[in-house]
Amino acid sequence: MTATAHSPVRWNDTTVQALNRRFRDAPPEDVLAWAAAEFGDGAALTCSFGGSAGMVLLDMIARQRLPIAVIFLDTDLLFPETYALVAEVERRYGLPIIRQRPALSLEDQARLHGPALYNRDPDRCCAIRKVAPLAEALRPYQAWISGIRREQTAQRAATEPVAWNAKYGLLKLSPLAAWSARQVWAYIGAHDVPYNPLLDQGYPSLGCAPCTCPASADNPRGGRWNGFARTECGIHT
Ligand code: SF4
Repeated sequence: MTATAHSPVRWNDTTVQALNRRFRDAPPEDVLAWAAAEFGDGAALTCSFGGSAGMVLLDMIARQRLPIAVIFLDTDLLFPETYALVAEVERRYGLPIIRQRPALSLEDQARLHGPALYNRDPDRCCAIRKVAPLAEALRPYQAWISGIRREQTAQRAATEPVAWNAKYGLLKLSPLAAWSARQVWAYIGAHDVPYNPLLDQGYPSLGCAPCTCPASADNPRGGRWNGFARTECGIHT
């Protein structure tokens, strides 16, 4: 891995704003190419293999043969279709997918916190099975690339292409911040990108199986954590 010194001293308001002026209306491929040139293999994409946007970024990375790593957070509770898509992507693109799992097995979690923690305390469950594993996975990297888009939720509405992420201590890149769902699906159709088949079966947003229900396309994250007032697992907040 390229050991370049990157720090909040370098990525301050002035430098980040300059990057956002440069990339606000730029094609996502330009952001990815810049990340590869700037960080080498010190940049990583997180891909849930549930949503469609992550698949677009993965395809762009593969198509440009960029040295960007692909991280898959495996909570042990994903849909079978999600695991099947990971295997299909490995076969099709020949990309090594870094599979990051929680420190606690489901059995250990049940022993320490009781069974089906997601039904009682999803904040704690996500902290154990998503947030902490992501921190571990991102530790070697200087830049984190994510597929979040502004139109997904009110919490994501102010997403810029580039931001300093103090939580994980790295630069966060959101190359699709300004893209609409229509643009995402147009790219997928044009490039024959594989995607999770559940997205065609009434699930506009996919996470762990116990916390994902079908939802309307108008409120794509409305089927996540049904019964709880949350639309984010904590990795983007
Ligand atoms: S989405 Fe649900 S099952 Fe998955 S980590 Fe969060 S609370 Fe647990």
